[in-house]
Amino acid sequence: MWNIQDIKKKKKYVAERYKNCKDSNERDKLSYTLLGYTMMLENRGTRNYTFFRNFIDFITRGKYTLINDNITNKKYKFCIKQPMNESFYNFLIELCFNVFNTENVLNEPVNFKTIKNDFDKVKQVSRDFYKNLGDEEISSIGIKLLDKDELINSYSYQRSNRKNYYGMTHKDYVFNDAYLNVLINNNILDYTLLTHEIMHAIDFKMNPKLLNQIYPGFNEIPTYTIDYLTIDYLKSIGMNKNEVSLLARKKEDYIQSLAAFTLFRLRKQLEIPKLYDYKEQLSYEKIKYFLNPNVISDLLEIESAVIAYTLYCDIKETNSFDKLKSIIKDGLDPNKIPNFNKYGLSNELLLETSKKIGEYSRFDKKLIM
Ligand SMILES: [Zn+2]
Repeated sequence: MWNIQDIKKKKKYVAERYKNCKDSNERDKLSYTLLGYTMMLENRGTRNYTFFRNFIDFITRGKYTLINDNITNKKYKFCIKQPMNESFYNFLIELCFNVFNTENVLNEPVNFKTIKNDFDKVKQVSRDFYKNLGDEEISSIGIKLLDKDELINSYSYQRSNRKNYYGMTHKDYVFNDAYLNVLINNNILDYTLLTHEIMHAIDFKMNPKLLNQIYPGFNEIPTYTIDYLTIDYLKSIGMNKNEVSLLARKKEDYIQSLAAFTLFRLRKQLEIPKLYDYKEQLSYEKIKYFLNPNVISDLLEIESAVIAYTLYCDIKETNSFDKLKSIIKDGLDPNKIPNFNKYGLSNELLLETSKKIGEYSRFDKKLIM
């Protein structure tokens, strides 16, 4: 569990340094770290603290959250302008359309079975997963992180403005640490949540990029890849087959739904009457006025998911994490149009893979009794 007193002490120290700092790079580092500490203290999930904040939200009709969110959103999201061009947008739209066109893996909402999870056991499974991953470098960083109890916080109460966050990794650029916060759901999801957040922390440890150097949308490539590998691992250690299978389907359903939602939003704005008229009608020319940061980040997230699936298939085939590690270590230049050619991930290959979303969990069908 996090050591709150220690975090408060560090926050005070960094705030003091920030006051006296003139160098702009250093100021960025300090301010992002401060922001991380603030978010950690706000969302630590204890009954007293989180409930109290939720109550202030309630009596101020959400104003408290609004003020807080304005500060954090400004810092956390869209810190950079994404350089794009027409052909890249057309590529993203085609990718999104391909995913949308794949056969749905879930046709109705299904929930995971509730099980009482002991967080120490969840941690142990995570540790074993990273130990058996097959890459010495990633394994050793992951295990070291999991052994540092003060970096990992699990909680049962959520801040009202954080309902969509099951997990969060906060980066400390001053002490070079990554702090994890994971919500205990008491179902099989707890296992993937922890390995996912640990991967965010490993990514940070391998290349501690500042928030304004991270390409929004692509920060999930390593974690989405790990999600697939975790599901495989849970299967291999004999976890409940139906639950593992549901996990796999939910994973693919998420990206299929995101593609459908993105197209639906654009269709609404374009007032295209029929769903399947999309392909002809959607091109950069048509949608350029509707490309707000939310749509762009959804399109990029779809690309990230396709990249992650491609990397997963590659790892299964070659047993090598080199491509994934190069992507992490190089970092994407936020001033350039994203291009993954150098890692063997050409746009053509990604377009091909985007048609295969859904295959992973269907392949898994034999698991369902
Ligand atoms: Zn994530």
